[in-house]
Amino acid sequence: MKPSDVPQERLSGRIALVTGGGRGIGLAIALRLARDGARVIVTGRTHDDLDRTAQSIGGHALVCDLADRAATDAMITQTRAIGRVDILVNNAGIAESAPLGKTDDAMWDRIMELNATVPFRLTRAFTPAMIDAGWGRVITIASNAGLTGYGYTSAYCAAKHAAVGMTRALAVDLGRTGVTVNAVCPGWVATRMADEAIARIQERTGRDAAASRAALESMSPQRRLVEPEEVAAAVAMLCTEGARGIHGQTLVIDGGQVLK
Ligand code: NAP
Repeated sequence: MKPSDVPQERLSGRIALVTGGGRGIGLAIALRLARDGARVIVTGRTHDDLDRTAQSIGGHALVCDLADRAATDAMITQTRAIGRVDILVNNAGIAESAPLGKTDDAMWDRIMELNATVPFRLTRAFTPAMIDAGWGRVITIASNAGLTGYGYTSAYCAAKHAAVGMTRALAVDLGRTGVTVNAVCPGWVATRMADEAIARIQERTGRDAAASRAALESMSPQRRLVEPEEVAAAVAMLCTEGARGIHGQTLVIDGGQVLK
C-alpha cells in the first residue's frame, strides 16, 4: 500500500476546544482539526480573529479573556452548552522576558496564570466528561522552555515547566480512562510571539530585523523557525486512535534545539 492509499483517520463527531484559536499556532491547530473532521470551538480575546476563524471552518467563536477567571468560567459553561469537549487544546499563552530583578510580581502572576493556571483550570473542567465518555485528548502547547532554561525568562520557563509537570502527573491519574494527556513543546515558531521577540532583540541590540531573526533561527540546528502548521500536525497526530499509547509525553518540535 502506498502512503497516499492509507485512509486518513478522521475526527468527525468530535468536538475540539482550542484556546487562542484566532491566530498563530492556535489558528493552525483549529484549521487542521476542522480539516480532520472535528467541530472546533475557538476562544481568545480578539473578536475579529475568532470570527474569521470560526467562519472559515464553520465552527464556534467564544470571546473570553482567559486571565479573568469569572469570564473563563462563563466560557466553560457556554462551551458545555455547545456539546461535550472531546479534545482540549490548551494553546493560549503569553511570553515576556526580563532579568530576575525586573520580573515583578504582576508579570510573574500574568505569565503563570495564562500558561499554567488556565490549562489546569480548563483541564479540570473538561476531563470529567471525557472520562465518562471513555475517550479524550488533552494537549497543552507548552514550549521547549518547559524542558530547559533560557536567559531572562524565569517566569515563562517556570510556567511552561508547570504545564509539563501537570501533564506528566495527570498521565498517571488518567491512565485507565481512555483520555490521553500530552504536551507539545515547540522551539521558536513563526508567529506574532516570535515577531515580538525579534522586535525586542532589535531594540536591545540595535541589530536590524533580518539579523535579529537570524539570531532566533540560529538557536535551532535546522537554522529556521518552526511553522505553525508543523505544531498543528503534531496535535492532529496525537488525536488519532493510533496515538492512544502516547500519554504523559512531551513532543518537542524545535529542529533539535533541545535534545531530551
Ligand atoms: P501568539 O501569536 O501571540 O498567540 C497567542 C494566542 O493566545 C492568541 O490567540 C491570543 O489571542 C491568545 N491569548 C493571549 N492572551 C490571552 C488571554 N488573556 N485570553 C485569551 N486568549 C489569550 O502566540 P503563538 O506563538 O501562537 O503561541 C501559542 C502558544 O504556543 C503559546 O502557549 C506559546 O507560549 C506557545 N509557544 C510559542 C512559541 C513561538 O515561538 N511562537 C514557541 C513555543 C511555545 P488574543 O490576543 O485574541 O486573546
